[in-house]
Amino acid sequence: MDCERYPQPASGGSLILAFRLQSKTTLIIGSNTLAANRAFAALEAESDVIVLAPGGEASACDELQWRMHQKQLSIVDMNALHQAADFAAEFRAYLDTLPNLALVCVTDSLAHRESNTRRSYDSAKAIFDVCRSCRILVNITDVPELCDFTLPAAHRFADLGTGRPSPLQIAITTNGQGCRLGGRLRREIISSLPQNVGGATERLGRMRQRAKLTTTPENLPVFQQLDKETSESLTPNTPVPQRSIFESPVERLQRRMRWVAQMSEYWPIEHLARLQDSDIDELLDSQVIDGIQAPPTQRTGHSTTEDFEQTDTIPSQHGLLIEQPKTFKGRVFLVGSGPGHPSLLTVATLDVLTKRATVVLSDKLVPASVLDLIPKHVKIHIAKKFPGNADNAQNEMMQIGVEAASRGETVVRLKQGDPMVYGRAGEEVLYFRSHGFEPVVIPGVTSAIAGPTFAGIPVTQRGVSDSLTICTGVGRHGKDVYIPGYERSRTLVILMGVARLKSLLEALLSETSKNRNGLAYPSYLPIAIVERASMPDQRVLVSTLTSIAEALEVLGEQRPPGMIVIGWSVLALHDTGFIDALDNDDILDHEVVEKWLSGKTSRTFEGLVDAWDQLS
Ligand code: SAH
Repeated sequence: MDCERYPQPASGGSLILAFRLQSKTTLIIGSNTLAANRAFAALEAESDVIVLAPGGEASACDELQWRMHQKQLSIVDMNALHQAADFAAEFRAYLDTLPNLALVCVTDSLAHRESNTRRSYDSAKAIFDVCRSCRILVNITDVPELCDFTLPAAHRFADLGTGRPSPLQIAITTNGQGCRLGGRLRREIISSLPQNVGGATERLGRMRQRAKLTTTPENLPVFQQLDKETSESLTPNTPVPQRSIFESPVERLQRRMRWVAQMSEYWPIEHLARLQDSDIDELLDSQVIDGIQAPPTQRTGHSTTEDFEQTDTIPSQHGLLIEQPKTFKGRVFLVGSGPGHPSLLTVATLDVLTKRATVVLSDKLVPASVLDLIPKHVKIHIAKKFPGNADNAQNEMMQIGVEAASRGETVVRLKQGDPMVYGRAGEEVLYFRSHGFEPVVIPGVTSAIAGPTFAGIPVTQRGVSDSLTICTGVGRHGKDVYIPGYERSRTLVILMGVARLKSLLEALLSETSKNRNGLAYPSYLPIAIVERASMPDQRVLVSTLTSIAEALEVLGEQRPPGMIVIGWSVLALHDTGFIDALDNDDILDHEVVEKWLSGKTSRTFEGLVDAWDQLS
């Protein structure tokens, strides 16, 4: 006989049970807060609970007293028992009076700072011996050798939809080896599970019950009564009736249960959690193709996989395509895609784009390499933002978003960079909220910081730049903006400014400009125009404030999107570095700038460093 065929039982484990205690009694000895915890757990399992404590009600903790007044449990004074000449006999006689006693939990044996209230080992042992002789399972806290069972670290999940406790509980035991570790592992397990896993469990339970509802001939659809012969006489042009025509009640039950199994395995937890009873009925009566759900629509005729793929589908965690029921309340995600290179998407954004989105509303700046990651079956709208139409395009996108979410779609509003940095995210959050959809905002890598980094410019650098100011080159409705005044220790990043470079330079350089708050900028100050940062055709033009406009003109065609970076940080990492601008005398500035530009008025750098080709 092959002795490795089945696992050898190894001692040291426990049989983990989920104990339902209806019409049974749990006796809790002690009346501290641990006793209250045990009482609550037993009450949730629908047990009758008796608390036996020296001193009775008066000695009990607040919670136990409250529960007693709520008539959830009773508290009995144990002093008389303790004073009896033969404790064991009296205790046994007491246990005999309790109907259907299932468990005894001794809680006042817990090691405690006030050790005078702690039950002695001998007393605990006497209780244990009596319980053993009556064959009643007992747990004595903190005395492992006097325990028939231990209570695992447990958690009951709430149903976030209703706010009520859900049927889902988890429990973890270290078999007495590390109760704190057990508690921590419990927390980690809880936080690693999807948010409304409790609600999903509740809904799935309801679905199982509804799936099992037996079908009586009266409530079957009329066409159910067609016999096989009639159905075979259907001509090719007759719509093929739904599967249920040929189903016996047993087959129907089997199909519905198979369906529930499929949903349990493959459906995203959050979709399960949002199921309503009406959705459940619709889903249970929809057709099944190769074990995967077909759309719950009025479609007749045999569905094919092709048909199926034409519908709006969402991928399940296992890569299967699953229809998203139209009756669900949709969701809105407002996500940032980063400056352009697909590797700069956050994991969260990639997750919603590739696994959750059914509709994507994208800004026009988001490059194709990012849009290409979106699965083919997902609808993509791209904002028609062009000069003069920005507000209309914005409104149109928001309307499409609300309409789609109202149909139950998962809408992903995809924005370049970070949605909160000049991304009109604020307006969208308020708009979607006012229409009943609270968007989830997922930050993105902003071009305002990543752009300079790609150009080798540190937006802050000890000795060069203590602070960073990000501003826009164009105000609301195309108006001019106020530029902050010169500060030697600051990097100024201007977004949406390249097209207005000349007027911006005027505002920066002119001693008397009304569009600047503070000091004028020195004419020899380094400036960079960073175009298409992070993309293969990235271009960086560096120069001084006086020469940049001409240098840009010489380059010819611009490469939007582009941004402007101004300050000493622009040259800080050039060659062997220049990271003491703040200590340096202004008189040396000219020399430093000249050396940096190698005697020219500007320099241009094309493309990304090779390593970026390999990052995806
Ligand atoms: N939310 C975006 C900014 C939107 S404003 C973010 O956080 O990045 C749009 C402006 O951002 C453009 O006009 C340009 O100035 C700048 N920009 C965006 N992407 C860029 C890129 N890849 N390279 C250079 N500038 C970029």
